[in-house]
Amino acid sequence: MVGWQQQQINLGQEHQEDLSFLVSRQRAWIEIDLTALAHNVKTLKGYLAPQTKLMAVIKADAYGHGAVTVAQTALANGANCLAIATLAEGVELRQAGITSPILILGAINAVEDIKAVAAWKLEPTIGNLEQALAFDATLATVGKSLPVHLKLDTGMSRLGTNWQEATSLVQLVRTRANLKIASIYSHFSTADESDRTIMNLQHQRFNQAIAQLKTTGFVPPQLHLANSAATLSDRSCHYDMVRVGLALYGLYPATHLHQELDLWPVLQVKAKITQVKTIPAGEGVSYGRKFIAPRDTKVAVVGIGYADGVPRNLSNRLQAIVCGQLVPQIGSITMDQLMLQVDHLQDLKPGEVVTLIGQQNNLSITADDWANKLNTISWEILCGFKHRLPRIFN
Ligand SMILES: *Cc1c(COP(=O)(O)O)cnc(C)c1O
Repeated sequence: MVGWQQQQINLGQEHQEDLSFLVSRQRAWIEIDLTALAHNVKTLKGYLAPQTKLMAVIKADAYGHGAVTVAQTALANGANCLAIATLAEGVELRQAGITSPILILGAINAVEDIKAVAAWKLEPTIGNLEQALAFDATLATVGKSLPVHLKLDTGMSRLGTNWQEATSLVQLVRTRANLKIASIYSHFSTADESDRTIMNLQHQRFNQAIAQLKTTGFVPPQLHLANSAATLSDRSCHYDMVRVGLALYGLYPATHLHQELDLWPVLQVKAKITQVKTIPAGEGVSYGRKFIAPRDTKVAVVGIGYADGVPRNLSNRLQAIVCGQLVPQIGSITMDQLMLQVDHLQDLKPGEVVTLIGQQNNLSITADDWANKLNTISWEILCGFKHRLPRIFN
C-alpha cells in the first residue's frame, strides 16, 4: 500500500480551470464600493476651486482598496492625476494601461530605478542636489527628459531639501537639459491637529521659499502642499493642486473635520460563519483561554484572522455585525479564525455573513473604531488588510 504522502492527487479538469473562488466571497473578503469612491472624488473635486487639480493618492495599493480599479474610478470621476510611493506601484498602473501623470512620492536613487522611471513615464520626486545630478546624468545616457517634482522640507524632516535651500536646488535643476520642473511641493506634519501652530509655520516657510524663488525670476509651474487634512481644514493651502489620500476612501483625518464634507466609507470587511456551537459555562475560548464562558454560551466561528489583517490586539475588544445586530468577539483572535458570542441570535448557520468593518441597517463599524481601540490611525488599519482577502468591487 502506498502511504498518503506518496499518492498523486489527480485534480479533475474543472478544478484546474475554475479559479473563481480566488476572487469570490468564499471565506473572507473586502468589498469596495465604487459608487462611494466616485461620490467622494466628485465631492472633493466640487469642494476645490475649478482650476485646482485633484491628485488621487493611491500608494500602498490604494490604502488597501486595490490601486488599479481605484485609479480608474478616480480618474473617471474628476481626479486629474495620481500619486504612488514606489516604482513598482507606478509600473503596476502603467501595465494596467493607465496613462495619466503619476507622481512617485518616495525617493528614487539607483541608476536602474531612474531608467525604469523614465521607461515607464513616471514622474519622480527630487529631494536633493545629488539626486538631481544622478537623474540628469542617467537620463542623458538614455536620451530622455522627465518632468520632475521638487520637494521642500518645511518641517516634516522626511524627504526634501531644507526650505531655506530651495533656490540652490531649483537653480541646479533649471540648468539641467534632461529635467523639467513640473512642480514644487512640501508636506505637512500636523495638518490633522486642531492646533494650527506648526501647520501655519510650515505654510509660511513654504510661502517664503516660493517668494525667494520668484526673486530669482523663476515662476514655479505648479505648487502643492495639502494632504486630506489640510485640504479640508485650510483652503489657502490648496495652491494649484491637492494630494488627497484618506478622504478619497471616505474617512476623515480627524473628528473635528467631519462637518466639512459628506464622505462615504468605501471599504467593508466581511467573512462567513463556518460553525455554530454551544459551550458550557466555565469552558475557555481560543488560545490562552482569554475568554471563559460565564454561562452556557453560543459561539460562532468566523473564517478570518490576524493573517488577513484583523489585529490580534483587538482580541476580546472587537465587535461584528451579524444579522443586523452588534455582537462581541471573544477569546484570542487566531491566524485564520476568530470567535463571536452570539447567544441571542436564533437559527444562525454556517454561511451567514459577518461584517467586521462596514454598515448594515443603522449599525456601522469603521476603521476609526479599530484604530481608536489600538491607539493608532485609520491609515494603518486600511493598509493592514492582506492580499489573502480578495477585493470585490461593487
Ligand atoms: C500619503 C501622502 C499624502 C496623502 O495623505 P492623506 O493624509 O492620506 O491625504 C499626501 N502627500 C504625501 C507626500 C504623502 O506621502
